[in-house]
Amino acid sequence: MNMLAARYYGKEDIRVERINMPLPQAGEVLVKVAVCGICGSDLRTYSRGSSLSDLPVPRTLGHEFAGTVAALGEGVTGFSIGDRVSAAPASSCGECYYCRKGMPTLCLDTLDFGTTQAGAFAEYVIIPAPIVRQGGLVKISDGMPIEKAGMLEPLGTCVRGLITQANLQPGESVVIIGDGPIGGIQVMLSKYLGAEKVICVGHHDDRLSYAKKWGADVTIHSGKEDMSAVILNETDGMGADLVVVSVPSAKIIEDACALVRGGGRLVIFGGVPKGDTVTLDPNIIHYKEVELLGTYNCTAQEFKTAVEIADHLPLEELISKTVTLENIREGFSTLAKREAMKVLVTMQESY
Ligand SMILES: [Zn+2]
Ligand SMILES: [Zn+2]
Repeated sequence: MNMLAARYYGKEDIRVERINMPLPQAGEVLVKVAVCGICGSDLRTYSRGSSLSDLPVPRTLGHEFAGTVAALGEGVTGFSIGDRVSAAPASSCGECYYCRKGMPTLCLDTLDFGTTQAGAFAEYVIIPAPIVRQGGLVKISDGMPIEKAGMLEPLGTCVRGLITQANLQPGESVVIIGDGPIGGIQVMLSKYLGAEKVICVGHHDDRLSYAKKWGADVTIHSGKEDMSAVILNETDGMGADLVVVSVPSAKIIEDACALVRGGGRLVIFGGVPKGDTVTLDPNIIHYKEVELLGTYNCTAQEFKTAVEIADHLPLEELISKTVTLENIREGFSTLAKREAMKVLVTMQESY
């Protein structure tokens, strides 16, 4: 048996090919992929080349997927053929320094779709045994459209950033810098968690009007307005309890530090181009007791939380384009031209 897969060979080189269909080994689950979203990280790999020097090529990318269980490896319980599922993006080994410290996202021996494992830009994907064992393969309700389930992984990363790391509390003021799909999810999630005032900063009029629809109380067009002045004005000159930077810009991280109120938190959600640095005023950290937080990926538990929360968020509205697997390159080029918010790759037309 063979299947279609879109495999990354190098910068701007993704080929849709027929390859052998994988068979699930003990503890693994084979999932028939219905949809897989193109992540900003997939786009970066495609347009700039992989940031990993040891990425095995060809490699099937794609980690934001949903589908149905197609086959179970020996010893797997709790799933049946046909179950609708989605999966956390990575596993943890449970044994390394970080795992023993309870920090699985920093695991030194992680299995990760699209890097160490074949990803889901393919008709079928293997869920590695550790992800199954750790509860990272999650059933989704019949009521959830499969396209929406393709947005669960990005939501999982936002659950980690805003809930686990930033501990967002009801009544707080939140600034989301970024009007891409992640910024959009963070606006929805902040409101869902009870943020009193959500300010979204971006530079696309259409996306900012979506942000308003999804719950932003104030939107700021950074090309037309003075971001800092508006934020300070909207927060009685104090700055926000929580500022989340979801754009790949060191300069914005620098500016954002001054927009956090005393005792508040700044979350750096996105990576910046290699080599970029920030200059920051240490007195902000010292006198104002501002916390700087990182966030990366999500755990199986955070992914499960995302599945529970998803019913309350209009995640499907983030999807602006779908392409078939055969036309995946069109999806990448649309994103590269910034002509779509989220692009989903669909594997079967009948879904
Ligand atoms: Zn992603
Ligand atoms: Zn580990």
